[in-house]
Amino acid sequence: MFEKDTLSVIGGKDCGCFDPISPPIFQTSTFGGGEEYSYSRISNPTRDALQNCLAELENGRFAFAFSSGLAAINAVLSLVKQGDKVLLSDDLYGGTYRIAANIFSKYGIAFEFCDTQNISETEKRLDGARLLLAESPTNPMMKVADLKELASLCRGKGVIFAVDNTFLTPIFQNPLLLGADIVIHSATKYLSGHHDTVAGAVVTNDEAIALQLTAISGTLGNALSPFDSWLVLRGIRTLSLRMERHQENAFAAAHFLSSHPKVGRVIYPGLAEHEGQRERRLQSSGFGGVVTFDVNDLSLVKRLKKGGKIIKFAESLGGFRTLITHPLTQTHASLPQEMRERIGITERLFRLSLGLENGRDIVADLKEMLDGCD
Ligand SMILES: *Cc1c(COP(=O)(O)O)cnc(C)c1O
Repeated sequence: MFEKDTLSVIGGKDCGCFDPISPPIFQTSTFGGGEEYSYSRISNPTRDALQNCLAELENGRFAFAFSSGLAAINAVLSLVKQGDKVLLSDDLYGGTYRIAANIFSKYGIAFEFCDTQNISETEKRLDGARLLLAESPTNPMMKVADLKELASLCRGKGVIFAVDNTFLTPIFQNPLLLGADIVIHSATKYLSGHHDTVAGAVVTNDEAIALQLTAISGTLGNALSPFDSWLVLRGIRTLSLRMERHQENAFAAAHFLSSHPKVGRVIYPGLAEHEGQRERRLQSSGFGGVVTFDVNDLSLVKRLKKGGKIIKFAESLGGFRTLITHPLTQTHASLPQEMRERIGITERLFRLSLGLENGRDIVADLKEMLDGCD
């Protein structure tokens, strides 16, 4: 098997004609001939090229590309049925909370939330559950879970274990190799990496789950379009190079913020002070490109929400551009207040997604934003 950086460049299935280096965009809804392909809601060669590459990168046998990360999560939640209990990380993407609390709970599925970094708490809460969906690192508090330990707990209790691997990507973390049953991605973020498409993915090794996902995707009709499949695959070709730069810039920003008098907590799993997470960190080969921090003074909040010369104030993460997000009023606005307070999402909290600019320019921009209010 090749290394991940090689796989990201060469992975994916040939389309069968002329041996193109970049796969053709099969922009067609239907196919004649009744052969391998019949209708693009069900399957499409461009989507197959992407799915094949995703499977190879995540060490899985079956991959599914969806029209968004939330469509991918929708498909995974569709594996459970009325009366089932689903356990989720309590610190998680706001949309995942919304799909659970506002949509699936209407159909008699019980959702519970717990700190998946805390193994003994998670172990108790797993009793009677059908599915565990964990983020690691979590969004936005960057908590790192012991995925191997969670996987073995789930196996013992017959719980399906799904991991949202959006933040680290297969370049830095391979949940299936750690024992997870399912890997989920918002491919909108690092996989595509260019702020130009919304997409999602699910990868598994479990044939029974794959059969169900095939039926779910084909029936719900939320598979990724041929053009967007092509965009995501194009993004993946440079994924490993980009992840290195995202991470290098995250270290630069985390070190700078840690030394700034107007900044309180800086949360980045790569920082030395997060030694308690060392064991768990060893399950990944990198820490990613997202840094979360608190400012000491509320007066700075308004200033940071204007962005900088380089840094844009905008939702999302994982693209070429450095973005600063205010979880309380943006990504996590829909979480109940009690949950936000427990997790620590306060008005003073910001999330930074480091882009591909020169790290010195990003740090200078941050400095100007923080010092600009004197
Ligand atoms: C953005 C995000 C999602 C949702 O993905 P979309 O592509 O926006 O639907 C899910 N999980 C995580 C961790 C995310 O960051």
